[in-house]
Amino acid sequence: MSRFDVIVAGGGSAGLAAALSAAREGARTLLIERQQALGGVGANAMVHTFCGLFHPDVSQGPQWLNPGIPTEIGQRLLQLTGQTSPDLMGRVYVLRHQPALLAQLASTLCAAEPSLTVQTGAELTAVGPDAEGWQLTINGLKVKTKAVVDTTGDAAAARCLGDRHWQIAPGQRLYRPAYVFSLAGVRTALDDSARLQIAALLVRAVKAGTLPGSALGAALRNSPFAGEVFITLDLEAGGAAWDPLDPDKTRALEIEGRETAEALWRFLRTHHEAFAASQPPTLPVQAGIRESARWQGDYVLTANDLISCRRFENEAALAGWPLEIRENACGPKFRFFDHPEPAGIPMDCLRHSDLPGIFFAGRCVSCDHEALASVRVMGTCLATGQAAGKLATFPAS
Ligand SMILES: Cc1cc2nc3c(=O)[nH]c(=O)nc-3n(C[C@H](O)[C@H](O)[C@H](O)COP(=O)(O)OP(=O)(O)OC[C@H]3O[C@@H](n4cnc5c(N)ncnc54)[C@H](O)[C@@H]3O)c2cc1C
Repeated sequence: MSRFDVIVAGGGSAGLAAALSAAREGARTLLIERQQALGGVGANAMVHTFCGLFHPDVSQGPQWLNPGIPTEIGQRLLQLTGQTSPDLMGRVYVLRHQPALLAQLASTLCAAEPSLTVQTGAELTAVGPDAEGWQLTINGLKVKTKAVVDTTGDAAAARCLGDRHWQIAPGQRLYRPAYVFSLAGVRTALDDSARLQIAALLVRAVKAGTLPGSALGAALRNSPFAGEVFITLDLEAGGAAWDPLDPDKTRALEIEGRETAEALWRFLRTHHEAFAASQPPTLPVQAGIRESARWQGDYVLTANDLISCRRFENEAALAGWPLEIRENACGPKFRFFDHPEPAGIPMDCLRHSDLPGIFFAGRCVSCDHEALASVRVMGTCLATGQAAGKLATFPAS
């Protein structure tokens, strides 16, 4: 039986940062990821912009918000994509990236850490206490560890430990999932007027029955690389019946996403000059789930904490992204913080005093449904992940 100091479950933004931070502190660390590639939603679901990396006061130009791994990864992505700065979009900075490059960068960073072992294609299925810490079941094998960091995005460890440790919003309120894909061979970068023209084309095609209604939620964004365009299809996913923890529902979502992506590509190729020579879509490994189960920690961060830019004594990270509410597939509603200042995320959102040695970060951090609309973005997930990895190595901090 293998024994580790820290096991991080989930290799998305939060898990990557947690594993790197624990390993860089010298902990014997295992990072497990159910998919074949690291990067989580940012790689396997093709989410292609990092939000939450920059200070919310944009009047000073882009300033990195959380030092350490979030800044390091942001700078590496800028370099790898050949961009000199992030994009200012209204009142926020965002960093465009490329999903395959993120997966590659994640592997490179992990490979450079001698005390870090990475296991992909590995799923956590059980967690239980052990004399010296915790015993995990991973692909049917028992593994012991002093500390666990759950960055699975849907609180897989909490769901093994009992109902009082996790929470989930009702189906009708859950932020809608989406299916993201890319098209290569697009002739020109899309400006605002091309996007408006395409939106009008899609409305007409849906009304005429040429495209399914799910095509209406399509949002198009240029990749940092010429000729590549990402398309995000927001999906209603059955409205109140949506349940991200039900494999039948996620399978149906992926089928709807794939069929819409293929129909949309065929339509754009014949109806818009920029797409005439575009190649068949590159499809994601998985659909993008914006919200599922979260931990219930010692403190539950609220929307008011964020809006009022509240600061705490013992902070794990800073949040700077506005609340991006997506309770339907008609695009986001933004709620900005009261001031162009960040808010704090306390350490108590990453732990529960009844469960020493277990920590959580990223999208399954302890917060309410509205607060998640801000803290779920990848820049903030990197920051809470970094803090959770350090806490797991030095639990008394
Ligand atoms: C459609 C969509 C668009 C978005 N747009 C943006 C955006 O523009 N900018 C932005 O910053 N954020 C965006 N987000 C939010 C952001 O991408 C996610 O909230 C963030 O990536 C979550 O990171 P994470 O590390 O917590 O979880 P994830 O990235 O979900 O990673 C969790 C990982 O854990 C693995 N896992 C799950 N269960 C297990 C298990 N039992 N055992 C082993 N591994 C497991 C999963 O395979 C996954 O790789 C978007 C999200 C979606 C869905």
